[in-house]
Amino acid sequence: MNLADSEVVVSILQKEGYERVEEIEQADFVMINTCAIRDNAEQRIRKRVRELRALQGRHPQLRIGILGCMAERLQSQLMAEEDNVSFVVGPDAYRRMPEILKQVRQGSRTADTELSTEETYADIEPVRLHSNGISAFISIMRGCQNYCAYCVVPYTRGRERSRDPETIVHEARTLFERGYKEVTLLGQNVNSYRYKNTDGSTTSFPQLMEQVALISPLLRVRFATSHPKDLSDELLQVMARHDNICKCIHLPVQSGSNRMLKLMNRHYTAEWYLDRVAAIRHYLPECSITTDVIAGFCTETEEDHQATLEMFRTVRYDYAYMFKFSMRPDTFAHKHMVDDIDEREKTRRLEEIIALQGQIALENNQKEIGRTYEILVEGTSHRSDKQLFGRNSQNKVIVFDREEVKPGEYVRVEVTDCTAATLKGRLVK
Ligand code: SF4
Repeated sequence: MNLADSEVVVSILQKEGYERVEEIEQADFVMINTCAIRDNAEQRIRKRVRELRALQGRHPQLRIGILGCMAERLQSQLMAEEDNVSFVVGPDAYRRMPEILKQVRQGSRTADTELSTEETYADIEPVRLHSNGISAFISIMRGCQNYCAYCVVPYTRGRERSRDPETIVHEARTLFERGYKEVTLLGQNVNSYRYKNTDGSTTSFPQLMEQVALISPLLRVRFATSHPKDLSDELLQVMARHDNICKCIHLPVQSGSNRMLKLMNRHYTAEWYLDRVAAIRHYLPECSITTDVIAGFCTETEEDHQATLEMFRTVRYDYAYMFKFSMRPDTFAHKHMVDDIDEREKTRRLEEIIALQGQIALENNQKEIGRTYEILVEGTSHRSDKQLFGRNSQNKVIVFDREEVKPGEYVRVEVTDCTAATLKGRLVK
């Protein structure tokens, strides 16, 4: 989401005559787009800002700005604490960046963190950064109002709002015409995407997915992220109808314990979650499922932790983002709960989850050996320039000998070997 936002910021500034430079030494402004989801992410930003002091010593004209969720969370406090930061801009204020930079050039320090109930940057064509020319993100909505007890996003990104579907389809079609082969539709909770069109009709997320999938069978479509409480059969049916909608669903579980899920304000139970997993398996038997999980949320007992491990054994995820609970200021948990699981215990529980998931991912991958997949080739393997890598519909990375193949092509590859993270294969002509 931050990468997509940075692409919007660059687009807004380029229209005003600013130029993006490759070398930081050439820059008049350095903007750091930030995440506030975990304390660790914020500490890394603080470190980066302090490291930039040396560069500012050599280039006194250099101005530093903090954008994104950390800017929104801390606002002008951030400038008070980091005296080399000249501007702080929240996620809904990027349209005002030219005016903000003008003020900064005149010597002001400024913070603009006003949140909007309408801003979606729908009319701004993002400038693709670090693009491989093959895959791109398209932001389809902004904000979130689910208020999970541990999460800072509703406070830093404001209320949920959906973007006009016509502009989304136009952006996807333009990318395809420029040679892109894959788009990922992004939102904090894409299943609650809903747009009221000018003719009074409403476009839902499954309808939007179908419109994007119909651009071309050669354009792959992915999405992130799904909230389990809103994952509908209708979406799964649309996914089943279109081969080019990738068969991978990220379904954050967060905990396998109903008591924890209630405390986290997740609005589903373990039984509901497993019902949604069963629906995925029913409509999309070949679909991979990935997740997010938090170890050691407030009051989590050994029994709750065991319920999470049991959830992992039952669903058998293909991949998981696994974290220790990090208390975030301003959240419901911060105001009403106590971060009472000690660090060593959190670490033990997290390590158990990681070890179990590593074993499951390896076993899942071993079952892939002998199967053949169509993959979209993305680039050269990090290990060897004689090999390329690509992803199958399930979002699994497959490495293979390059032969005459080029990035951006679709090829068929038979899986011949694996690790827990990667599949190895050979081209099938
Ligand atoms: S759904 Fe919950 S975890 Fe996800 S962004 Fe919204 S509040 Fe945060």
